Amino acid sequence: MNKPAEFNPQVKLETVPVWINGKALAPAGRHGEVFNPATGQVTKKLVFADSGLVDAAVKAAAAAFPAWRDTPVLRRARVMQKFLQLLQAHQRELAKIITEEHGKTLDDAMGSVHRGIEVVEFACGIPHLLKGEYSENVGTQVDTHTLRQPVGVCAGITPFNFPVMVPLWMFPLAIACGNTFILKPSEKVPSASIRMAELFKQAGLPDGVFNVVHGDKAAVDALLLHEGVKAISFVGSTPIARYIYETGAKAGKRVQALGGAKNHAVVLPDADLEFAADALIGAAYGSAGERCMAISAVVAVGAAGDPLVKLLEQKAQQIKLGVDMGPLVTRQHRDKVAAYLDIGVKEGARLVVDARKQQTPQEGFYLGTSLFDHVTPAMEIYKNEIFGPILIVLRVNSMEEAIALVNRNPYANGTAIFTESGGAARRFQNEVQVGMVGINVPIPVPVAFYSFGGWKSSLFGDLHVHGTEAVKFYTRTKVVTTRWPHQDAPAPGFDMPTLG
Ligand code: NAD
Repeated sequence: MNKPAEFNPQVKLETVPVWINGKALAPAGRHGEVFNPATGQVTKKLVFADSGLVDAAVKAAAAAFPAWRDTPVLRRARVMQKFLQLLQAHQRELAKIITEEHGKTLDDAMGSVHRGIEVVEFACGIPHLLKGEYSENVGTQVDTHTLRQPVGVCAGITPFNFPVMVPLWMFPLAIACGNTFILKPSEKVPSASIRMAELFKQAGLPDGVFNVVHGDKAAVDALLLHEGVKAISFVGSTPIARYIYETGAKAGKRVQALGGAKNHAVVLPDADLEFAADALIGAAYGSAGERCMAISAVVAVGAAGDPLVKLLEQKAQQIKLGVDMGPLVTRQHRDKVAAYLDIGVKEGARLVVDARKQQTPQEGFYLGTSLFDHVTPAMEIYKNEIFGPILIVLRVNSMEEAIALVNRNPYANGTAIFTESGGAARRFQNEVQVGMVGINVPIPVPVAFYSFGGWKSSLFGDLHVHGTEAVKFYTRTKVVTTRWPHQDAPAPGFDMPTLG
C-alpha cells in the first residue's frame, strides 16, 4: 500500500471528499494520497474518515431509513431505473476514473463498469424479488404469509481491483431492498464511488440513503463496531475477510466476507490447446492479473503439458505493456509481485517468460508478463495469491490428480476445465470443491441474476453477492399468521394450538 501522508497544505491537489447525507464533505484531519499507477505520481488527496465521521454517516443512514423502507417498492425501482440510465450515460467517464486510479486499460475498465451496471439492471426488478409467500387455510380460518423486510443500515467495504463493479455488487440491491447504505471503498481508488453517489442523488435518491466514507483500518473498524450498522458486505483479501467476518459476527451483525483466490484451470489432453491458451492468456494477464477470478495456476494433464506451455510462452511474450496490459496498482504491490520471480527460481521452478527481461516504461508501476513451468504444490509461488501478471503451470498425470490438487487448495473462488469431453466436464463440475466453475470458460463470473461467491477461504458467511442470494442477505423474513374472529369459528383455546 502507498503510505497515507499527513495533510500538507502546501500541496494544491484535488481532495476526494466523503459523501454524507447527500453532500460532499472534506473536513481537515487525516488524509491519504491517490496515485496514477501509469505515471507513479500522486494525483489527489483523500479524506480518511475517523470514528466521528463514520458515526455521522451511520446517523445520516439511520435517519433516512424509516422513510426509505416505507417508500413504495415501485418508486424505489424507478429511482434504480434512473440510476441505471445515468450509469449507462456515464460509463466512459467512470471507466476513465478507474484507469487513472487503478491502472487497468480503458477497454478493460469499460467492461468492468458494464458488469457492474448489470447488477443495477437486476435491482430494477426489485418489486418481483421482494414478493412474499401466502398460504390460505393453514388452520381453520387461519392464513399465513411472509414478508421480506430490509435489515436497516448496511455497510460495504471493497477492494482496489474493481472500483465500480464490486461496489455495484452491493449497494444497489441493498438500497432497492429498502436499506440505507455506507460504502467504504478502497483508499487506493476512491473517486468513482463519489461520482456514483452524485449520479444516484441525481436519479432522485433521498439524502442519507447512500453514503461514502474513505479510509483504512480506522474507518473499517468504526463501521464494524458501530451498533447502528446491521449488516456488512466485504470483498478483499482472505486475512481481512476472516477478520471482518469474525469481528462483525461477534458484534451481532450479519456478515458476508469474500476473500482471496488461487484459481486453477485444468487442461485435459483432448482440449483445443490453441483455444485454451488464448483463453488462459486473457484470464491470467488481463487487468495485470489483479482479478479475484484471474487464472493464476494452470494444471496441465499428461500430454497437454509441453505443447500448452509452448503456446503460453509465445502468447505471453506478445502482450504489450501500456497497450494490452496496464501497470500494477502501487509500487509496493509491483515490488511484492516481482519478488516472486526470485522466489520461484530459487524454489526450482522453470521461469519460461521473465518480466525482468522485457522493456518496461520508466514511469509508473509496470511489470511485464511471467510464466513458470514445473511448479509443485509445495512452492510459495503456488501457495500464495500473487495477484499480478505471473502465471504458473503444474503438471499432473490424470484428471483425478488434477481434481485432488484443486480440492486440496484452501482457496476456492473460481476454476475452469478445458476439454472436448462432456463426460469429463460433467465429472469435474460435480467433484470440484469450488464456488464458480467454467467449462471451456476461463473466468466464470456469474451474470447479475445469479450469485457470485467462492467456497472455503474465499468466502466467510453463507450468502453470496448479487442475484437472489443478495436479496436474502439484505432482507429478513417475517412470518405472519392471521385469524379474523368469525361467528362460525371456534373460540381460541387455552392449550397449545395445533391449527389443523
Ligand atoms: P484488502 O483486503 O487489502 O482491502 C480490502 C478492503 O479492506 C479495503 O477497503 C481496505 O481499506 C480494507 N482493509 C485493508 N486492511 C485492513 C485492515 N487491516 N483492517 C480493516 N480493513 C482493512 O484487499 P485489496 O488489496 O484491496 O484487494 C485485493 C484482494 O481482494 C485480493 O486478495 C483479491 O483476491 C480480493 N478480491 C476478492 C474478490 C472476491 O470476489 N472474492 C473480488 C475482488 C478482490
